[in-house]
Amino acid sequence: MVRPLVLLDVDGPLNPWAGTPKPANYRPFDIKVGWRRRLRVWLDPGHGDQLKRLAEETGAELAWASSWLHRANAEIGPRLGLPPLKVVEFHDAHGWKYPAVARYAHERPLVWFDDDFGLHPARREEFVHKRRHLTTALIHVDPGTGISARHLDEAREAFGRNP
Ligand SMILES: [Mg+2]
Repeated sequence: MVRPLVLLDVDGPLNPWAGTPKPANYRPFDIKVGWRRRLRVWLDPGHGDQLKRLAEETGAELAWASSWLHRANAEIGPRLGLPPLKVVEFHDAHGWKYPAVARYAHERPLVWFDDDFGLHPARREEFVHKRRHLTTALIHVDPGTGISARHLDEAREAFGRNP
């Protein structure tokens, strides 16, 4: 059985950096990012359960597709109540996250939450086209609001369709 994937970006979908003010439910966390530097991120602790439920209901695996890379497991996951997740690693000079995600997901259906699908439209089209025989739902999340119930429903619907 091929297990579908739910890919998570951090900044935007889980940390609504552009929101002023931040939507309700979000709490500030100051995360150490250097010797003396701290970065404030806003997280909704409810997201952990919502994402775990989505994964459970759809038989999918959650994974990070974020420039936080493995630090997402150290700094973000625990604050949401998420277990350690696999990490898509980006080693490509071109094509943004698409080449790495294409390799990682291979023939698995996927839903992907990110706020930057608008950046490389030609790469996006190519990525989606090559996966046209598989569920490939790129769900744009507004970095002013983060993931909401509507995005989660969209994900369920995408997996509910064939293939
Ligand atoms: Mg982002």
